Amino acid sequence: MKNFTYHQPTTIAATLPLLDAEWGKTELLAGGTDLLDRQKDYVSQPEKVVSLTGIGGGFREMSSVSPPGVFPPIITIGAGVRLVDIAESKLLAQYPALVQAAGQIAGPQIRNMGTLGGSLCQRNRCWYFRDEHVNCLLKGGRKCFAQEGENQFHAIFTQGHPCVIVHPSTLAPVLIAFGASAEIAGPKGTRTTPVEKLYHAPVKETQREHTLAPNEVLVSVKFSGGGPQFAKFCNASYEVKQKETSDWPLVQAVVAFHFEKDSKIAKGVRVVLGHVAPTPLVSEAAAKSLEGKEVTEANAGLAGEAAVEGARPLSQNRYKVQLLKVAVKRAALLAAGVKPYWEG
Ligand SMILES: Cc1cc2nc3c(=O)[nH]c(=O)nc-3n(C[C@H](O)[C@H](O)[C@H](O)COP(=O)(O)OP(=O)(O)OC[C@H]3O[C@@H](n4cnc5c(N)ncnc54)[C@H](O)[C@@H]3O)c2cc1C
Repeated sequence: MKNFTYHQPTTIAATLPLLDAEWGKTELLAGGTDLLDRQKDYVSQPEKVVSLTGIGGGFREMSSVSPPGVFPPIITIGAGVRLVDIAESKLLAQYPALVQAAGQIAGPQIRNMGTLGGSLCQRNRCWYFRDEHVNCLLKGGRKCFAQEGENQFHAIFTQGHPCVIVHPSTLAPVLIAFGASAEIAGPKGTRTTPVEKLYHAPVKETQREHTLAPNEVLVSVKFSGGGPQFAKFCNASYEVKQKETSDWPLVQAVVAFHFEKDSKIAKGVRVVLGHVAPTPLVSEAAAKSLEGKEVTEANAGLAGEAAVEGARPLSQNRYKVQLLKVAVKRAALLAAGVKPYWEG
């Protein structure tokens, strides 16, 4: 690992002046489960590491407020909250998609160290990017080696993308399906942006998978299932994995909608796909297919079919198209409270 200077400020205000206006020289450290791996592999070689571990207060807390008439409660989660605390939180009882996604990340060791902010800002897992000897597009090279190489775990929505990574965070698609917003601190103060806008498809070394500036810090995220009064907020995340533990999914689908009082008709449907494109992908087609309908097996299946419209898989990952159809169907059924009959 290359030598670096280490800073441990105790407030966000004291953190900001330590950051650079360009990517590369300085890195923020949260739980370190992604950054330290990259440093040990010489994929990231910062001169300065600014630890967020000394920052307390709301940065490390989760809170819930229920203004009159609002249900489920509005939740705020500090970026420094650990994944295990999200996976085991009682505050999130109405938000099973987030609990499920956090509980499926890696294994207990990573969930004990890793944080919400680290999950949302982690770098991609493309094996070409993670190999110190390969100079891919995201490391200043001129070529994406996955386009014609070993691409079985890469994007299937590839159109217009010179780099075909998949976005790595499984919490990002959930938060996008919830319509969450992110609070970000930077040199000009604090700004709020939809989590959906936090992501873009990077194509060069001077970009990250997220749209934060190098001198900004993600402080917290906030969301509410807020539908009409007395509506039930239904949500689920379904991942297809090669291994039960310690692995990223091959595909992920998050489905969220409301059932109005005494109704079984899905309203305000949101479908967000993970691990199939360089960003979390909002599927308008799948949402439209389910909107205003009863969530039967047949209708959930149609939403799955709609979700794969426009997929352009690479040479080795056509199998993901079928996995994605099934993931959307099962996420929709789980959200509607259907017993997972596929588990036998
Ligand atoms: C085997 C394995 C399986 C995994 N499976 C999954 C999975 O299924 N889904 C999933 O989502 N993740 C998965 N992960 C990744 C895991 O979620 C991340 O390693 C973890 O969330 C990173 O959190 P951290 O706090 O350790 O981040 P760090 O390693 O400390 O930081 C990661 C990156 O985020 C930046 N960062 C951290 N906090 C902030 C902040 N507040 N503001 C701005 N930038 C910040 C850092 O600068 C760094 O670049 C897996 C990891 C392993 C090892």
